[in-house]
Amino acid sequence: MSFSRREFLTTAVVGSLSLGLRGQETNEQSSRTAANPAGKRPTIITAHNGYNYIDEAFNMLRGGADTLDAALRVVRGPEDDPHDDSVGLGGLPNEDGVVELDACCMHGPTRRAGSVGGVRNIKNVSLVAKAVMEHSGHVMLVGEGAERFAVAQGFPREDLLTEHSRKVWLLYKETHSDWWGPGLADPNWKKRFEAPPRVGEWQLRMQRMDVVAAEIGIPPEMRRDAIHKVLFPPTGTIHCSALNEKGEISGCTTTSGLAWKVPGRVGDSPIIGAGCYSDPDVGSAGATGSGEENIKVVGAHTIIENMRHGMSPLEAGTDALKRIAHAYDNDLDRLRFMDMTYYVLRKDGAWAGVSLWEGYGADRKPHTIVVHDGIKRAVKTVNLFPGFSQDWPPTPGSY
Ligand code: ASP
Repeated sequence: MSFSRREFLTTAVVGSLSLGLRGQETNEQSSRTAANPAGKRPTIITAHNGYNYIDEAFNMLRGGADTLDAALRVVRGPEDDPHDDSVGLGGLPNEDGVVELDACCMHGPTRRAGSVGGVRNIKNVSLVAKAVMEHSGHVMLVGEGAERFAVAQGFPREDLLTEHSRKVWLLYKETHSDWWGPGLADPNWKKRFEAPPRVGEWQLRMQRMDVVAAEIGIPPEMRRDAIHKVLFPPTGTIHCSALNEKGEISGCTTTSGLAWKVPGRVGDSPIIGAGCYSDPDVGSAGATGSGEENIKVVGAHTIIENMRHGMSPLEAGTDALKRIAHAYDNDLDRLRFMDMTYYVLRKDGAWAGVSLWEGYGADRKPHTIVVHDGIKRAVKTVNLFPGFSQDWPPTPGSY
């Protein structure tokens, strides 16, 4: 990128940021003044995939339930849902076809924490994180030890691959290795794919993948999505922070992490201070997005410390995003291939949702934060940079 282009982009970013800040302050204002004048009513914040579960959690808080139990109610929803392929059951597996889950939780009232990383065969890892907190003297368990601990605590072992996630993984294998899929001895080998004349290399690759997807048995209406997920490994996660009327606050985060990851890879979600941090004196924060980047800025803890020193939730979250950008010298040529959303809830009920980009992917999906403070709504986050993050690895022509 030439200097002049960078300068242009930086100016554009600053303009968008100030506009965005004003927008979110309006959101904060309305949630604090119009709907929350005393500043201590129940409030829950979560990611977009918590929308269907937040009502029940909010009613739990109203009924006097513990804040961590309410937050866990939200994230358990996607963990149990086989159609959410970013969390729990049905989460997309690692490159070996094994689902490995990460989760953590923090209980503000007792200042305790629990966490698990790289857990196989157990669906509700957010609850396992809570079990580590309550039934061990440790904070974090990983891998086989975490699985054995979960079973000892009564969690059932189950196959976390659904038929669909297994097929998408097979599509990944068969299109990334010459030894998976029918070999040279297959009678139909020659007919498997005949290249149409005059199509570009990229188009050819997609067409070939479509043929393989059909052979694997992925239904036509799901093929485009499956191919996209194979080419551009998706992330996805859920965080939830819950605050009750008394000002008690807790948080949790759970994920299947990055699809096709190297076995043993642990992201930011189970790292206390990165994927989640709750401090009863200040508030609670969590993250979804590029885990490797968030670990390096210890995002959730940074946000809590920022608020402890006087920043608003919006300023605190934005500062953490700027640290990610700073680590790349604000080089948008690289930053556009990563993304990060922070969910921030202060002890008095003030909240913010911030993200590196306005949204993500070719479909230009906006980043949102779901809030319930008596009224449930999904609100667009405040973005640091204008525009949308791009899929990684880059498509030809976008790099
Ligand atoms: N942060 C998660 C991870 O890196 C993924 C995500 O939030 O999308 O494992």
